[in-house]
Amino acid sequence: MKNLLLIHTGGTFGMRASGEQPPLVPGNLENDIEQYSPIINKIANIDIQIPFNLDSSDIGPDEWILLSKMISEKIDSFDGVVIIHGTDTLVFTATALSYLLTDLRKPVILTGSQRPIFEVRSDARNNLISALELASMEIPEVGICFGNRLLRGNRSRKKSIESFQSFESPNYPPLASVGMNIDIHYNNILRRRGSVRFVPGFDSKIVCLNAVPGLEPIDKNLLTDDSIRALVIRGFGAGNLPLKNTDWISLIEQATRKNILVVIGSYSSHGRVDLGLYANGRAALDAGAISMMDMTLEAALVKLMLLQANFEDVDEVKKMFLQPVAGEMTVEAESHA
Ligand code: ASP
Repeated sequence: MKNLLLIHTGGTFGMRASGEQPPLVPGNLENDIEQYSPIINKIANIDIQIPFNLDSSDIGPDEWILLSKMISEKIDSFDGVVIIHGTDTLVFTATALSYLLTDLRKPVILTGSQRPIFEVRSDARNNLISALELASMEIPEVGICFGNRLLRGNRSRKKSIESFQSFESPNYPPLASVGMNIDIHYNNILRRRGSVRFVPGFDSKIVCLNAVPGLEPIDKNLLTDDSIRALVIRGFGAGNLPLKNTDWISLIEQATRKNILVVIGSYSSHGRVDLGLYANGRAALDAGAISMMDMTLEAALVKLMLLQANFEDVDEVKKMFLQPVAGEMTVEAESHA
C-alpha cells in the first residue's frame, strides 16, 4: 500500500455551522473523516497533519512558505501529498507551491469542497477520494483535483461560487480526467521546470488596478509610495487601455520612470494578452509596460511577489517574469509583444 501525507489547512471541507445557521467555522476534521469517509483507509496508509485550520481568505505567504517547507521535509517518506484547502484562495496556494517546490518528483494534489463533508449532498468525499487516488500515481505536479478533473494548479482559476465543478484552467488542458477510470493525460504533464531555485519569500509591494470605462485610473498620489515595485493592470481583451483619457498611459510612463515594473493583463482569462495587436495596447507597450501573456492573474501576481523577494533589480524581475518557472505560461511566442 502507498503512503500518503494528508495536510488539512481548513476551508468549507471541514467546517461546521457555529449554530443552527451559517456562518461556517473550522471544525474537527479528523473526527469528521473518521465518521464520514473511513473508506479512504483502503486507498493508502494516510498520515493526517493539521498545521493550521483557516478560512482560506486568511491564507497567504506565511502559510505558503510553511507548507512548502513541511512538504520538502517530509516528501521522502511518502508517495504523494494531498492538501485540503478552502476553495477561495486555493489557486494562489497551489501556484506558490508550484514555484517553490522546484524539484518536485511526486504529486502534490490540492482539493477542497463546496459543501462540508458532514452534509448529505457534499462533494467533499468524492473530491478527497479522487485526490488521494491521484496522489498515489506518477504525477509530478502541483495539481488541483475538483469535480472530475485534475488541473495544473498555476493554470487554474476559481470560476464558480456554487458549482461542484468550481475550477477551470482556461489556457491549459486537464492533467487527468476522473470517471469510472482515472485517465492521466501524460502529454500534458510538466516535463521541464525552470532551473532557478528560489529563496522562499514573497514581496507584496504590488499595486493592482482594473481599467473601467469612464473611471479615472488611480489616485495620482499612489505612486509616490517609494516602496511600490510593480503595477499590474487588468485591461480589456488583448490588453487594451483607454487612450482618449491619457491618464493611463501617463501613469505607465510615470511608473516606468520610477523603475516600477508595469504588467498588463486582461479581464478575459482565455487567450493571450498581446499588446502589439491594437493601438490601445501598443501605447502601453511603448510607455514601458509588458504583457502578462497567457498567465492567469493569480499566477502572474504570485510570480511577481516571489521574484521581487528574490531579485532587487527591476530588469532581473522583468526577465524572469517572462520565463516559465513551473508550466504557468505557454512559451511559443507568436504574439507581437
Ligand atoms: N471560504 C471558504 C474558504 O475558502 C470557501 C471554501 O472552502 O469553499 O476557506
